[in-house]
Amino acid sequence: MSGRDELLARDGERFAKEIENYQIWLDEHAEECYQLAQRARQQGLDHTLEVEIPRASDLASRTEKLLINHLDGVEIADDIRTMLETHDREITAITMAQKVARHFREEGHDTVKSIDVGLRVGLAILTEAVLVAPLEGISEVRLLHNIDGSPFLSLHFAGPIRAAGGTAQALAVLIGDMIRRDLGIGPYLPTTPEVERVKEEFGLYRGNLQYRPPPDEIDTIVRACPVMINGESTESIECSGFGECRNVDEARIRGGVLLVIGEGLCLKAPKIQKHTERLRVPGWEFISAFAAKGGDDAGNGVQARRQIKPVRKFMNDIIAGRPVFGEPSNPGGFRLRYGRPRTSGLAAGSLNPVSMRAMDDFLTVGTQMKIERPGKACAVTPCDEADGPWLLLEDGRFLRVDDEATWERVGSETLTIWDNGELVLGFGEFLENNKRLVPSAYSNDWWASDLLDALDDKGLLDFIDITGLAQDELPDGAPASPPGGSVETTRKKWHQFLRALRLNWPQAKAISHRFATSMPPPHNPWWADLPLEWIEPMLAILQKSHVENGVLRIVGGVKGWDPSPLLQFQFEEFQGETPGPEVHLCEPLLDDKIAEMETLRVHGLPKASALVLGLAHHHDGDDLLITSGWEALLEGLGFGLQKGKVEQIVDARIHLQARSEKLLQVAALLKIEEVRRGALDAKKAQIRIAAETDARQKGYNIGDTERMGKEAMDEVLDPGPDNPLLLDESFSLEDEHRVDGAMWLVRKTSELRWEHSAPVRIGTRMARPEKAAPREMRPAVHSLFPIGMAGGPQRRLAVAADKGILRVQVRKRFCVRCDAGSGLLTCIAQTSAGEVCGGRCEPRTEAENSTARRMGVMQSLPIQNIIDAARNNLDIRMPQIVKCVKGLMSKGQTPEALEKGILRAAHRLPVFRDGTIRFDMSDVPITHFRPREINVSIERLRQLGYTIDVDGQELRDGEQVVELYPQDFIVSKRAEDFLLRTTQFVDDLLVRFYGLEPFYN
Ligand SMILES: [Zn+2]
Repeated sequence: MSGRDELLARDGERFAKEIENYQIWLDEHAEECYQLAQRARQQGLDHTLEVEIPRASDLASRTEKLLINHLDGVEIADDIRTMLETHDREITAITMAQKVARHFREEGHDTVKSIDVGLRVGLAILTEAVLVAPLEGISEVRLLHNIDGSPFLSLHFAGPIRAAGGTAQALAVLIGDMIRRDLGIGPYLPTTPEVERVKEEFGLYRGNLQYRPPPDEIDTIVRACPVMINGESTESIECSGFGECRNVDEARIRGGVLLVIGEGLCLKAPKIQKHTERLRVPGWEFISAFAAKGGDDAGNGVQARRQIKPVRKFMNDIIAGRPVFGEPSNPGGFRLRYGRPRTSGLAAGSLNPVSMRAMDDFLTVGTQMKIERPGKACAVTPCDEADGPWLLLEDGRFLRVDDEATWERVGSETLTIWDNGELVLGFGEFLENNKRLVPSAYSNDWWASDLLDALDDKGLLDFIDITGLAQDELPDGAPASPPGGSVETTRKKWHQFLRALRLNWPQAKAISHRFATSMPPPHNPWWADLPLEWIEPMLAILQKSHVENGVLRIVGGVKGWDPSPLLQFQFEEFQGETPGPEVHLCEPLLDDKIAEMETLRVHGLPKASALVLGLAHHHDGDDLLITSGWEALLEGLGFGLQKGKVEQIVDARIHLQARSEKLLQVAALLKIEEVRRGALDAKKAQIRIAAETDARQKGYNIGDTERMGKEAMDEVLDPGPDNPLLLDESFSLEDEHRVDGAMWLVRKTSELRWEHSAPVRIGTRMARPEKAAPREMRPAVHSLFPIGMAGGPQRRLAVAADKGILRVQVRKRFCVRCDAGSGLLTCIAQTSAGEVCGGRCEPRTEAENSTARRMGVMQSLPIQNIIDAARNNLDIRMPQIVKCVKGLMSKGQTPEALEKGILRAAHRLPVFRDGTIRFDMSDVPITHFRPREINVSIERLRQLGYTIDVDGQELRDGEQVVELYPQDFIVSKRAEDFLLRTTQFVDDLLVRFYGLEPFYN
């Protein structure tokens, strides 16, 4: 039973009632708005008499309304709704598409129409019917003919298909194929020139593509795909080799085709494969080859690798002035923590507020950050449960700062941000991006979950015994046998309690022994970051250390430490004396050099180790004092405490020596294999070039030349390594070493359970700053009324008015009352009585039937008369500055009523090119809020339907946590004045222009 179910059960009726009331409230108010808008539109003062945006209650009815011009009155909403109750969107899309196509066919429509409608229905459902892709992304469907005369299906894609995304693009092809099969149309059998044509287009295309398949992949797809992926020409570049080609209309590049093949079929192959296998669609076996290829981190090597490969993609297109916060997968960057605070959701990640402060405020709430994985970007939000950054201060202190008060105190003394702190990402982010999960750190969350599972009634007693906690310090109820059956709530409280619990070393160790948990922070150093080569000299240093007042003192550990190289950014070129005790390192074990050597040279071995492991410390004269995590350091390297003295318990050197010898052998073997492969590749390249040169001289075309080169190359035999088994073993040892590093040794020497504390770092950089501001055109204008060049550079109406008559390009319309020609919506001709006519003007040609890009013609507008008429209508004083546009960019080219612009100017409001008034705000998902945080009174919230908090308690004070209703959002403070002025504008418009009642006041 989930927490929510429980809440429903306990507070059931009330909770359901809240949501229901909310829905009713929304419906009623939306209906009220629509009716008012409809009354305004019926005055005939706008371009249309109807409200353009149809009201739809759900995906099903949106789909029906979106496709109203295609469906010929056939109703599909109920069917979609029923299917969605039991199936996901993709399955519903495929099934409904087939069903609609069959229905149209049975009703006597021709094959093309049936396929066309079915396909659009499918695409609409896939894209939630909120995009134009189902309308404009598919320009047409045709039946063309194979060389043997048999018909096949050709799908024509256009630019707007891009918005649908790769999955919907690829599924559209699959849907098309399934429908044509249903209707008895055979497969597409392309000729070689038709295949070569697509290759040529990919080669010539200069636009942005997420993936550009190589020629052999294009070959496979075009030949195997049972329908033709076709389209309109979108680019100006023409194909020269295969410009004239069977079944293709023009020589110019077809952008839609490249999108659907590259970003759709290639990149989304795994998703398509899921459906083709489930539905057993024949002819789609080719997609499996691509799906297997798309496997990301796993690679396609012989054996599974544990190493998490760095991803560099997020580092592309770095912009000056936007900092990088961490190189791919490098220590020092953000440490991944799985989770979702209440201020986060998809495409968002959370940081400790101090991490934001430490980044010089480059990161603030809402900043977009590019992230290494799972991919793309996230908006940054605060989370105080996340670890803050680890700072190295000028006096040598090393500490993690989790609260802003400490930051205020020490922030200015920061020498380096050693570690950015945690980045909290939901696992759903990986799911949404179709990426494998990467290992989690053994955080307090994991520890709490491990422990909670082990806390049966006996376990609870042992837990109390170990921690010495009193009954009243614990959450109510035992986790294993909670009172009243509220398992979930009790476990939730316990989990919260446990993950906030900080244990000392003996307690953590006892818990680990008793409950088989691993060591929780701070007793869990970043073992994997400690170079194995450092350990042997470190053992000698630890042997001589001692413990006093609960800290580990390493005498002379930082003798001669000097922070100046760090201040001068000369870290890499540090030439000075290495501080601390003199050490001798062994030779590098696996790589050409030992990791983190600069750190070692600048700080000396004891301090460098403490830094790399994340152990808090400070200096006392020449001594290094490690204040946290040192017990774990001793334990992991085979030491223990005997009466305050550091004593060796296990000699780690024995394991260390065995490991070092092994790794040196591995390094030698891998080197030999690398040389062997290098020689083989060089030979292959040589043979390929020879074969290609030969083919070219014999006059073969590009495709054949490439193929022959590849065939010749493939004939070069790879005899393989001398001892494949040994090599395999070496590869897995290498892998193990790169993942575990010193942790391997720790697990050998200590009997405790150890899990990695920072297995994955996420490289990040700043993407773009977010701000809340009105959306304006450049230059900002108030009115979509064209005044040509007459308004001067400021596009001012008053300046244009001085010209008396304007020449601008607008569509011809005629007054329905007096038949006068006009470029406006409302007639301003004088009647015989000397008054303004005021009749509605309509065009005499249909815009839909026109192929012209714009419908306007040059006409004269008596601007002064128009202004006078508008001012009379509104009965207000003209605002001083009214800015208009130079010309109209729409197809219809009819100006909006000038009155609207005058009123916007009066309220200092800009207009966007679609006639809307917009305000952009940072888009950050949030699920819960505290009333205090959003400055809304409890009374007002109760009016808005917020009556209970997240625990089902009556909402009484500003500190309670409340779940946000699904359609509600929290407005930026900066929008307050702007939105207020907008409501005043709307009221003025209703009263003065449409002659209706005001809406807001
Ligand atoms: Zn008229």
